[in-house]
Amino acid sequence: MIAWRAVRGPVDVVITDRWGGVSAAPYAEFNLGDHVGDAPEAVGANRGALAAAVDVPPDRLVFADQVHGRRVVAVEEPWGTQRPASADGLVSTSPDLVLGALVADCVPVLLADPQGGVIAAVHAGRPGMIARIVDAAVDAMSAAGAVEISAVVGPSVCARCYEVPATMRDDAAAVSPDSWAVSATGTPAIDVAAGVSAQLAEHGIPVLRVPGCTRESPHLYSYRRDGRTGRFAGLIRLHRMPRGDFRSWQVLSDGAAPSGAGLGRK
Ligand SMILES: [Zn+2]
Repeated sequence: MIAWRAVRGPVDVVITDRWGGVSAAPYAEFNLGDHVGDAPEAVGANRGALAAAVDVPPDRLVFADQVHGRRVVAVEEPWGTQRPASADGLVSTSPDLVLGALVADCVPVLLADPQGGVIAAVHAGRPGMIARIVDAAVDAMSAAGAVEISAVVGPSVCARCYEVPATMRDDAAAVSPDSWAVSATGTPAIDVAAGVSAQLAEHGIPVLRVPGCTRESPHLYSYRRDGRTGRFAGLIRLHRMPRGDFRSWQVLSDGAAPSGAGLGRK
């Protein structure tokens, strides 16, 4: 369920894996995506279990309706009876609201100003990197009062596993040169996480990368590997009280234990 967790001041970041839920194949087991064809009851049960694990009421676990765009919206309370916003980034200053980005190869980016009390969860795939959604997230966080932002970049498909046509690699590199890559077989590839991390660095934002490739790890969902499959999540939350040092991320769980869910290669 929870593969990786870190705290910094009052900010808590969690990366989930695919184990410990009730979804049946091909979504087994802990699918959190409600847009991939899985049974709604299973997704609801999994989300409920996750909310319980991070100790919030289920409605305070908030996901956007992700559309591979660059829109980032502020959210300060549960969606309630409203439909989730169509967006790929959520920003909040509200304690005890858990913001999530759903992924299965795309890059989950969790951003925080622990002193300023501003957090964001961003879904950044190749289109998001090319659209520079990171810039929109930083703008939205700044508008909410963020001054000193740091980032956690969760697991995604690695460059070795992300073969693309040469023109697609060129288009991505025109926006983020660091994304230019070569696949394991020597063909053109894109390193989306490197591109996103470089964009964050342009804002002076330090990045903590969570190791692991979705396509190579049996513990994570991968659209490239499996096609029809579930989604795991990168989650971020602002607590009312500090849980750790403000100056650096403290990794509390690195995926090696206790569920044996190492995120690395097979
Ligand atoms: Zn890989």
